[in-house]
Amino acid sequence: MDGVPTPLRCFNEYNSAEMLVDDGVETVTSVEQKKVERSIKEVVSVYKQMHSLPQPTLLREQHYQYLKKGLRHLSDAYECLDASRPWLCFWILHSLELLEEPIPAAVASDVCQFLSRCQSPRGGFSGGPGQHAHLAPTYAAVNALCIIGTEESYNIIDRKKLLDFLLSVKQPNGSFVMHVGGEVDVRSAYCAASVATLTNILTPKLFEDTATWILSCQNWEGGLSGVPGLEAHGGYTFCGTAALVILGKEHMLDLKALLRWVVSRQMRFEGGFQGRSNKLVDGCYSFWQAGLLPLLHRALFKEGESELSRQRWMFEQQALQEYILLCCQNPGGGLVDKPGKSRDFYHTCYCLSGLSIAQHFGNMDLHHEMILGEEENRLAPTHPVYNICPEKVSKALQHFHRLPLPDDSRQPGPPAPDHLQS
Ligand SMILES: [Zn+2]
Repeated sequence: MDGVPTPLRCFNEYNSAEMLVDDGVETVTSVEQKKVERSIKEVVSVYKQMHSLPQPTLLREQHYQYLKKGLRHLSDAYECLDASRPWLCFWILHSLELLEEPIPAAVASDVCQFLSRCQSPRGGFSGGPGQHAHLAPTYAAVNALCIIGTEESYNIIDRKKLLDFLLSVKQPNGSFVMHVGGEVDVRSAYCAASVATLTNILTPKLFEDTATWILSCQNWEGGLSGVPGLEAHGGYTFCGTAALVILGKEHMLDLKALLRWVVSRQMRFEGGFQGRSNKLVDGCYSFWQAGLLPLLHRALFKEGESELSRQRWMFEQQALQEYILLCCQNPGGGLVDKPGKSRDFYHTCYCLSGLSIAQHFGNMDLHHEMILGEEENRLAPTHPVYNICPEKVSKALQHFHRLPLPDDSRQPGPPAPDHLQS
C-alpha cells in the first residue's frame, strides 16, 4: 500500500492499567495527577456512551466562529491597551491557517496596520502601540505578518531597525535579554533567530556565541532549562532546540538524552504531554513537546542514526490526537489545557499546532499523514521550526532573500587598533 494515504479509523482504548499507582504514598502531586486522570476517564466514558462507533471529531465550525470573533475584536482600533496584542494576532491567524480558513483581505490589512503601530521607532515590536520593543511580541508580529504574506505585510517590517533592536538585546556571552534591561532566557534566542532568518537579517556577528550559550542550558535530565542550571522545561527546550536548528548547531546537543527526556513527557494514560517531570498534562505542550520530535528526527537522521531516524513516528501520535480531540475541545469553540479549564487563544493555537504535528509530523509528504477520525479532522501542516505553514515560510524567505542584508557594522563596531588607543 505504499504511496496510498491511510487515515486511521480505529480508536485506542484508554487503559486504566496505565493510571498512576502511588504505592500508598500520597503527595500533593499524586493527588492532583489522580484527579486529572479521573476527569479524563469520565470524559472518555461519557463519549463512549454517546458514540457506539467512536470517531473523535474536530469541531471545525465552532473553532472557526470563536476565532472569527477574536479576529474582529483584534481589528477594533479602539481596544489597544492589551500588552500582548501581537500574540493574539499570531495565535488567531495561525489557528485559522491550520483550519485552512482564509483571512478576508480587509481584515488582514487592518491587522497589518495595527501591527505597524506596535513597531517601535527604534526597531522591533512591542505588546501594544507606544510600548517598549520586546522579543516575544517581535516574534509574534513577524510570524503574523508572514502568515498574512502580502506586500503590505512584508513592507511593514523595518529590517534595518529590527537588526538594531536585536543587536541592542544581544549579550556579550551570546545570550539575549527579552528587552533592553530585561531578563535573559532561552526563549529570547529563539525569537531572535526566528525573526532574523525569516526576514533575512541574520549576520554572523548577531549570533556569535549564541549556540554555545544555548547548549549550556541542556541539563542532566536531557531537556533544556530557561537559563543554565535550572529544571528542564518543554517551552524552553523547544525554543533552544529550534534556535540551534536555525543556527545549524543542533548536532552539538546530546540528542539521545533529549529524545529520552521528551518522549518521557508524553503521559501514559492521558496521551497528551506534560511540560516538566511530575507535572500535569497540558494541551499547549502538544506543540512545545511533540513539535521537538520532527526536529530531533531530522537531526538524528543527519547524524547517521539510521536506527532511530528510521522510526517514522517517535511518539504515540494517535494518543495525542485523542487527547486533543476528546479532552481539549470546548463545545462552543476554542481549545483548552485540560478538561474543566476555560478556552483561550493561546491554548487554541498550540493544541491545533500539536494536532497538526501529530497528523503530519511537521512538513512531511501527504502519503505519510495519520489522521485520527474523519478526513475532515485534517489540519494543514505546520513548519516545526517557525510554527507557521511551510508555504508561508518559503514565501517569506523568497521575498526577504531578494533584499540586501542590512549592515550591522554601526553597532558596537570593531575595537580600535592598538596605536589609536592611548
Ligand atoms: Zn498550557
